[in-house]
Amino acid sequence: MIWLDAFSDRYLTPELCPFLWNLSKNCFFAKIKPLFAYKGIEYCFEYGAPLNKLGVWNDHVFAGFDAVNKRQNSLFKKVLKFVDNFSPSDEWNKVFRYILFKLARVEYGTPHLIPPQYIDVFPVTRPSFNRKSLYQILDENSIKYLRKEPKLAISEVGLIKRIPKYLRKYDVVFLKLNSLDRLGHKYGPSSNNVRRRIRYFDKLIGELFPKLGKNVALIVMSDHGMTPVLHYFDLINFLTKKGFEFANHYVAFVGATYTSFWFKNEQYKEKIVNELSYVEVGHLLSVKDKIKLGINKIGLEYLGEETFAAREHHVFFPEFYHVRRPPKGMHGYAYSSYDAPICIVCNEILESNMTKQVASFTDLASSITNFLNLSNFSS
Ligand SMILES: [Zn+2]
Repeated sequence: MIWLDAFSDRYLTPELCPFLWNLSKNCFFAKIKPLFAYKGIEYCFEYGAPLNKLGVWNDHVFAGFDAVNKRQNSLFKKVLKFVDNFSPSDEWNKVFRYILFKLARVEYGTPHLIPPQYIDVFPVTRPSFNRKSLYQILDENSIKYLRKEPKLAISEVGLIKRIPKYLRKYDVVFLKLNSLDRLGHKYGPSSNNVRRRIRYFDKLIGELFPKLGKNVALIVMSDHGMTPVLHYFDLINFLTKKGFEFANHYVAFVGATYTSFWFKNEQYKEKIVNELSYVEVGHLLSVKDKIKLGINKIGLEYLGEETFAAREHHVFFPEFYHVRRPPKGMHGYAYSSYDAPICIVCNEILESNMTKQVASFTDLASSITNFLNLSNFSS
């Protein structure tokens, strides 16, 4: 199974990726319903259940206004502040932070650039599920599998080439390739950098396919697409100008396509919600919206008392992923019409499990367990 991170259905053309395009015509092909924001995709895949059922969304939670007011000045935060100031770019900042977090043994979730003063306010949570994941099912049935997610683009090539070799030793190979996501954010989905990488992946998968043999099932799927960003909006600065102080009157978790809000009291909530209702780059999610997005049962410690979602092609900037350089491509919009993730499934048995024109992430893991004749997920 190959995850092509941030592969948009718009990339799937005979000119850009002739091999994958052909594969999509000759095997099972579906667009996947995109997920709002970012983090739940892997959970949905691994646990074969939607976000609402799992009750998770982001991997950070709001710890409350007490945590905001603590303002500990630990050594870790001082070093973090120094690292942030000294980093030449967002990319380097992420690398330096990664090293620092590892050294300090502090949990490192996503996003990567939460301001130092809010690190304690948004601690990382690792949710526990009373439901088996795909990998647990594989373990229990002594299915040997390999999971690889290389940090560097250069390692991706060798891993694709080594798949036939791995398959001699393992029953299942999961390979997640992230470089298209990084390029899409940095240069935009229609850039030459992205197009070159797609052509290259297409060539590599095209060379791999004949080597797989008849009994091997191939899944190529993306976790989300990549939409061009045309407009930027500094939501926090907007509220500051209106006289609202971050940490004193409200706290916000700022993502590129959504901002979650918690309020000091009802009075500030009412005033801020009123201001936000005039902001045209997005809208506050109603209960109806949340039901439609499948997140209405997610706790407010994740979602915020209010969630403001950006309109497609707009992002909030700066945010907790990008501080210095605004992204040129983004994914995870509440209402997206531009693009969708894709799913190509090649193998007769596996294909018969996938019948829908529009698949969901939750379909994939149970298709794999069915294919391997394993007892499925508990409902
Ligand atoms: Zn991304």
